Amino acid sequence: MRNAALDLVITTLEKIRETNDHLPRASRISLERLQASVPLTDRTRSEPARRGGGAQDKAELLAPIRERVRVCVKCPNLACSRTQTVFGVGNPDAELMFIGEAPGVDEDRQGEPFVGRAGQLLTRIIETMGLLREEVYIANILKCRPDTAPGSFGNRPPTPLEMQTCRPYLVEQIEIIQPKVLVALGAVAVEGLLGTRGTMRELRGKWHSYNGIPLMITYHPAYLLRNQAPSEKRKVWEDMLQVMERLERPITKKQRSYFL
Ligand code: URA
Repeated sequence: MRNAALDLVITTLEKIRETNDHLPRASRISLERLQASVPLTDRTRSEPARRGGGAQDKAELLAPIRERVRVCVKCPNLACSRTQTVFGVGNPDAELMFIGEAPGVDEDRQGEPFVGRAGQLLTRIIETMGLLREEVYIANILKCRPDTAPGSFGNRPPTPLEMQTCRPYLVEQIEIIQPKVLVALGAVAVEGLLGTRGTMRELRGKWHSYNGIPLMITYHPAYLLRNQAPSEKRKVWEDMLQVMERLERPITKKQRSYFL
């Protein structure tokens, strides 16, 4: 019931955007009327969440988006090839949110991001930061596994069109979760989130911003699995030390001198 009217409007606006040349517009008065159409009890329950309320409120706000993602067919080829969509996992009230590229074969099977080999490494990184995987939030730019030719191995990167199509879901997730810090894993995640292309050499290790949220860019864990050089692992760890500092988390001597 809560926000059902809003969900309907969002779905309709998305349809208009897909089928029209012009972006849909709504006047302030219409938006105010729409707000007024949501029952008062529901409005008072959802507003604290929008201002950074509890995990329960945020989980409730995420639920209808998860449902829209679950039945999404905006990329017909991906909707046909996927086992299931992969929405996101973790604490809806997390201070720290990681953004990856797209589900791989393991994530497509299990319906959870970062559960394969790269995911195990990400979990180790999170735990070395003194956090639990359940304390952070993890999502991808794409909610479906990019399809591959029958009989072929491995994963393919998402196309710019796929990222553009799926991005609004991630934008909504970030708006609800309102993390203190975002971490983008790899250049593809950066392109999907910011729409800018760059080399990791230029991008990583410094603070960027997404809608006013501090954004750290670092290598994708899959890169670390391909390139086992200690220097590359140390770079990722240094980026994570910056994240811990930004979150004002304690850093031990052992953590400072750590190599992943
Ligand atoms: N790589 C990603 O970018 N995301 C996943 O969920 C798994 C691997």
